[in-house]
Amino acid sequence: MTAGPIRNVTIVGGGTAGWMSAALLARALGPSATITLVESEEIGTVGVGEASIPQLRFFNAFIGLDEDAFLRATQGTIKLGIEFVDWLRPGHRYMHAFGSVGRSLGTTPFHHWWLDARRRGTAGEDFWAWSANALAARAGRFGRVAPEGGEPLSWAFHFDAVLYARHLRGHAEAQGVQRVEGRVVAVDQDPDSGFVRAVTLKDGRRVEGELFVDCSGFRGLLIEEALKTGYEDWSRWLPMDSAWAVPSRDAAPPVPYTRAWARDAGWQWRIPLQHRTGNGHVFSGAWTDKETARQVLMDNLEGEPLADPRLLTFVTGRRKAFWNRNVVALGLASGFMEPLESTSIHLVQSGLARLLALFPDQGFDPALTAEFNRQTGDEYARIRDFLVLHYKATERDDTPFWASRKAMEIPESLAARLSLFTGPGRVFSHEDDLFKETSWVQVLLGQGLTPAAAHPMTAAVADARVDDWLADLAHAAARTANALPTHAAFLAGAVRAELVG
Ligand SMILES: Cc1cc2nc3c(=O)[nH]c(=O)nc-3n(C[C@H](O)[C@H](O)[C@H](O)COP(=O)(O)OP(=O)(O)OC[C@H]3O[C@@H](n4cnc5c(N)ncnc54)[C@H](O)[C@@H]3O)c2cc1C
Repeated sequence: MTAGPIRNVTIVGGGTAGWMSAALLARALGPSATITLVESEEIGTVGVGEASIPQLRFFNAFIGLDEDAFLRATQGTIKLGIEFVDWLRPGHRYMHAFGSVGRSLGTTPFHHWWLDARRRGTAGEDFWAWSANALAARAGRFGRVAPEGGEPLSWAFHFDAVLYARHLRGHAEAQGVQRVEGRVVAVDQDPDSGFVRAVTLKDGRRVEGELFVDCSGFRGLLIEEALKTGYEDWSRWLPMDSAWAVPSRDAAPPVPYTRAWARDAGWQWRIPLQHRTGNGHVFSGAWTDKETARQVLMDNLEGEPLADPRLLTFVTGRRKAFWNRNVVALGLASGFMEPLESTSIHLVQSGLARLLALFPDQGFDPALTAEFNRQTGDEYARIRDFLVLHYKATERDDTPFWASRKAMEIPESLAARLSLFTGPGRVFSHEDDLFKETSWVQVLLGQGLTPAAAHPMTAAVADARVDDWLADLAHAAARTANALPTHAAFLAGAVRAELVG
């Protein structure tokens, strides 16, 4: 006998994760289920989370958000990639750009053709000369449509996370999501199965549910405080445990990329929005103290600060299980790996996609839970390896922090990737990897790792033909970047669309 369908979904938490969940589940489940979201203004949200990756566009499109309306509502700007400054050594910079860099020839990936031509002295050192995204970013340009013969760009956004949650809330409530304001003070569980049956609010109200989505932030109100799921601590690889965050006045027109400067015991972000610049210093308390870290941030602001800096603390890692009984944890309740590659909000999105694919009925088949946990665990581990790469592959040993990162033991999965690249230059991504070959290659090269040899298949094509092809590709990328409007002109158009549209 099959169990009945889920008719009541309760989301605990109204930060970015909670409202993304509400908007998406309302869209996907339609009137077949009642969706309730409980949040507490008294507690508030983390409120940072200003940079995204291109997949967010698909999320917004799925729930029916217009992109220009989104940019207006969130004071958003365009992000074409992340520039890493001083990570390999002081004075060095490179970009992890979205989208493609060159293209494969036959079955052989682009970087091998470039490596071979560089060895022969016919290609320049700048791998990013073949990335339309990187060239447009450096030139401060953006457009959604590529000029004729050019390469289309791949883009994400910088945005105000508080405004995004508010925008999503309006959207979700219009789809029928019920919002309950109140502080959860108790979680009622079935005495036999441990399944969560209801949450009790401070004023005594009970909010029941069949499926609970825990979006309550770092504390994990249901997944941890009630279900005692446990946490896997990854701070031996990712020792960041704190961040000071402060907004500042825009000192220049917003650039279409995030900047991440390596600092003595961490790194600093600068994220330009329409109405302000977001800044933060992510650091490890094991290598510096709070006051020094705060001063580093304030000394390196471009414009005047608009508020007092705020300290956030965290432990990098993941829940031992993301789905436990009838509770699925999303957002910070599920884990946190630091914001270096802007992956947190994406993990909410991919968790929701997985939840839909594995959506249970009231029987909660354990096979669904196990598969959700396996897939999510794999995704976390691969992102972790990508983040660790930024710290491990460095020439820096000029501070105790960087010396310790360079010397650290790394996960076996990352060690295998590194030897596959530094020898024969191979990079493979799994189908469900968030960061594909092009991302890995950019960060591997950017962090100073160069393969010993290009792919032997490069010998199969005449050098002159390869050189002509490389020149054509570089030309197409440059033509794209140069023909696009400035980022400022694009934003003015997107914002103005409201007035004329
Ligand atoms: C320093 C830093 C920088 C970041 N930068 C980025 C970035 O650039 N890009 C990115 O993708 N992500 C970033 N993140 C992560 C991002 O901020 C979060 O992933 C995202 O905002 C989701 O947060 P959340 O909704 O899970 O949690 P929160 O924002 O903490 O929301 C928790 C919600 O639960 C509610 N709640 C808690 N307890 C109770 C209770 N007892 N009763 C009722 N309600 C309760 C709160 O009121 C709140 O509504 C960053 C995080 C940090 C710490």
